[in-house]
Amino acid sequence: MMSDMPVTEKMKERLSREFQEVLVLGRLIGFGNLMSLASRAWQAELEENGSVMADAAFVVGPCKASVVPCGCEKSKGCDWCCGTGWLTKKVKEVKKILSHRYAR
Ligand SMILES: [Zn+2]
Repeated sequence: MMSDMPVTEKMKERLSREFQEVLVLGRLIGFGNLMSLASRAWQAELEENGSVMADAAFVVGPCKASVVPCGCEKSKGCDWCCGTGWLTKKVKEVKKILSHRYAR
């Protein structure tokens, strides 16, 4: 949803209803499973329809316990985390090494 778009009461009601539906499904099949399946279904849908947006589907990453904060300013975009704000520990190490190497 665009941040500058006015949120109407009807939109709030719809989001609330959808949130509750996701909550029920997540509790039933597991939230990680739900996100993984949604990502795969979205990608399959785009590919099946031959969409020019075939690479637009979100990918689901690892659980929060296995990532560390990127340290970037999300609002400015980031080539390391693609704006997610999270990196694997190994990628964070590489980022730190390269930023020291090229900071000179
Ligand atoms: Zn980042």
